Amino acid sequence: LPKDIFPGRKNSAGIDLADPLVRDPLLKRLHNLRDRQWEASPTFKAEIPGEIAPITAPFDHGLRIGTRRDASAEEVDMAITKAEAIQPGWNALGGEKRAALLEAAADEFEAHTDEILSLCQLEAGKTIVDSVLELREAVDFLRYYATEARRLFAEPTPLPGPTGEENYLKLAGRGVFATISPWNFPLAIFIGPAAAALAAGNTVVAKPAEQTPLIAALAVKLCHDAGIPEEVFQLLPGAGEVGQLITSDTRIAGVSFTGSTQTAHAINRSLAARDGSIATLIAETGGQNAMIVDSTALPEQVTRDVIASAFQSAGQRCSAQRVLYIQEDVYDEMVTMIRGAFQALVVGDPTEFATDVGPVIDHDAQAALERHVARSATIGRTIWRADDDPAFARGSFVLPTIIEIEGIGHLQRENFGPVLHIAKFKNKDLEKVVDDINALGYGLTCGLHSRVEATRRLVESKIKVGNFYVNRNQIGAVVESQPFGGEGLSGTGPKAGGPHYVARFATERVVTVDT
Ligand code: NAP
Repeated sequence: LPKDIFPGRKNSAGIDLADPLVRDPLLKRLHNLRDRQWEASPTFKAEIPGEIAPITAPFDHGLRIGTRRDASAEEVDMAITKAEAIQPGWNALGGEKRAALLEAAADEFEAHTDEILSLCQLEAGKTIVDSVLELREAVDFLRYYATEARRLFAEPTPLPGPTGEENYLKLAGRGVFATISPWNFPLAIFIGPAAAALAAGNTVVAKPAEQTPLIAALAVKLCHDAGIPEEVFQLLPGAGEVGQLITSDTRIAGVSFTGSTQTAHAINRSLAARDGSIATLIAETGGQNAMIVDSTALPEQVTRDVIASAFQSAGQRCSAQRVLYIQEDVYDEMVTMIRGAFQALVVGDPTEFATDVGPVIDHDAQAALERHVARSATIGRTIWRADDDPAFARGSFVLPTIIEIEGIGHLQRENFGPVLHIAKFKNKDLEKVVDDINALGYGLTCGLHSRVEATRRLVESKIKVGNFYVNRNQIGAVVESQPFGGEGLSGTGPKAGGPHYVARFATERVVTVDT
């Protein structure tokens, strides 16, 4: 395709970590930020403060990086009252002015690159590569949704008027949106849905995950510094109970949730039990993501893509590969190569540049993954694990693990960490493999490595997933180019970073004028 086929907005350029003249000073500056103490608290505070909890680094729980002050019931109520009062004014501002404020926020994010990268590493345990990707995605969401605010809210859309009447359709904010986000993309998925809701003319009360409120607090502060009024975008830190308080309030017009399928069901029930207006729920949830590899695939390419899909970000991506199906003719050869690359992975402190796999988020996540590995061992499965190190005891580390299984149907739930399952299939059973993947009911990502066009067409036509990747890894969707999100147990859509996303946060109004 010619290079200028998509003129206009460009995604963030990121940071060239391969260049030592850029990388080394950056790593030094990040090291100097290590002792800084951060705080997250509600944007507007009541006289009696909520609970205070320490936040520690996942790779060393002795390293305290700040505190979270939870929102009390009074503060949740106060936040929604203020957000509701100012919403008509924010909506009346129009798409162009809201877009300019979101772009100013993106500039603020880039101007505070060091603080953001430092918190990605210290609070969420991300490697430097993942931290840079996180910042880029956040900035891309802000700028893309700003473009969408201009596109969707500039002029009403004229509609046909065969009877001589003038008809037009316009979009408006729904009211106060609650955004509830996970810890695994503590900046990008905290700011993405909030930016879309703001772009559409809503005000936002945002509850970050209890593990990662500090980077969320920084993001909200940077938005305020960029000129977005405090009442328009508010932070409500706390655990799941704060989320429950918010979603049960009948003044909340919509909820954008990203997290586990179980929590999405709980929020759906909570919204259904409320009286008053019927709230919109946008839910982006978990997956049981597979990759299928046949005998025509290139082994080196498969190895590279499996290692990235299963173990980058310590497997803590919703899109991450959980099950790898390899055609039986090439099974032994492929598994040997993958195990070789797997053994070369460097596990450890994510603030070290050489680290490939950092910790999992906390001891609960670690215990759940270890229970899964132990259970697999008791039923006699073959298990390979990376080497242990006494230093890992300081944090919540799970050694990268590969487990042989018979098929995806043997997995009950999402194992959210660096654990990959491998299964063998016969080429004549390809359709059955696709049926088995579909039968679980998840529908987030699927990968395929094959040089056979008919195989690609077959899998593409049958697989029920939101994002299907061929001859590449299955993580890291790019804003606007690869809109992301699943179906079934994996979410409601619309796709984040796609052309239908912002409109879902808005309500449609039609005006008819008899001329
Ligand atoms: P989670 O446990 O479901 O929590 C997500 C958010 O919901 C947190 O802020 C949580 O608060 C809050 N919450 C918990 N119970 C609630 C309730 N009853 N009412 C309202 N809010 C409630 O998920 P997680 O462990 O943070 O994140 C990992 C999950 O997210 C994985 O399943 C992953 O696949 C999924 N994910 C999906 C996507 C996607 O785009 N499809 C992207 C990223 C992650 P607390 O943390 O304070 O309990």
